[in-house]
Amino acid sequence: MKPAPFDYVRASSVEEAVAALAASNGDAKVLAGGQSLVPMLNFRVVDAPLFVDINGIEGLDLIEEKEDGGLRIGALTRHFALETSVSVRDRFPVLHEAMKHVAHLAIRNRGTIGGSLSHADPAAELPMMAVLLDAKIVAAGPDGEREIPAGDFFTAPLTTVLAPDEIVVAVDLPGLPAVTGWGFEEFAQRRGDFAVAGVAALVTREGGTVTNTRIALMGLHDTPVRARSAEAAFGESGIEAAAVAARQDADPMNDLHGSADYRRHLAEALTRRVLTAALERAAQ
Ligand SMILES: Cc1cc2nc3c(=O)[nH]c(=O)nc-3n(C[C@H](O)[C@H](O)[C@H](O)COP(=O)(O)OP(=O)(O)OC[C@H]3O[C@@H](n4cnc5c(N)ncnc54)[C@H](O)[C@@H]3O)c2cc1C
Repeated sequence: MKPAPFDYVRASSVEEAVAALAASNGDAKVLAGGQSLVPMLNFRVVDAPLFVDINGIEGLDLIEEKEDGGLRIGALTRHFALETSVSVRDRFPVLHEAMKHVAHLAIRNRGTIGGSLSHADPAAELPMMAVLLDAKIVAAGPDGEREIPAGDFFTAPLTTVLAPDEIVVAVDLPGLPAVTGWGFEEFAQRRGDFAVAGVAALVTREGGTVTNTRIALMGLHDTPVRARSAEAAFGESGIEAAAVAARQDADPMNDLHGSADYRRHLAEALTRRVLTAALERAAQ
């Protein structure tokens, strides 16, 4: 199918993009990598009178190291740039691993982090990584910039707190404590497909004691979430208790890719695996 007719603006600054969005009374759409938007346009799932292309805006395509060990990642950073970045590999190996599972190479060459977060697919890797890594999402609108914690950003499938005249400009990842092990696992029917479900974990040790655990889930709720009860169960009783808690807390959907029961099974099995891997890495 072909899309319905639309107007097109190529913005050369954030201000220009925001002004074009604001002038359209909420009807315009941002165009970044086009890897989700263009198929939806062609299927006529999305229909907008105006597309604001942000690919010509300089300075949105960067990976900047911060002094706290974190990173600032510009919204137009392509998935492939994240996958191959030495800064990402060294500072956030869990993100480096997750990027290998995002779609296929051709899609990773065009898709952007800002597009993935704004698209908010509950089974997408980058939204889950943002929640796991306590990212702050920086959005620009008519009144300037605001920072949105990733935990507050996703509200429902394909829905975020972004206003129609706001664009994501960057993502800030705070640095991780020194001895932090990680685990990432997802199950997809074929490599490159969206995952049926996925789990990621970070385990921090200080002086041989686990001092902090983060577990995040994708494809198991309406949005990516932290598995708070699994985190607490891990602290109190260990891996098995955490895996059971992740299963009990999961609230997945039934669809043609997998039943809700099967997804709950994945929550338990993948939580067990990621915690085992994260503990081992934190011990090295
Ligand atoms: C066959 C196929 C398989 C895929 N598999 C996976 C997968 O396994 N895992 C995965 O995570 N993704 C997958 N994707 C999606 C891919 O990662 C997309 O790149 C991503 O979801 C959207 O990024 P984009 O830059 O292409 O955004 P676009 O398609 O340009 O835009 C997507 C949405 O976000 C909005 N938007 C874009 N940028 C911004 C911004 N800076 N500020 C505000 N709004 C913005 C757009 O208006 C639109 O609503 C797949 C896609 C395809 C076609």
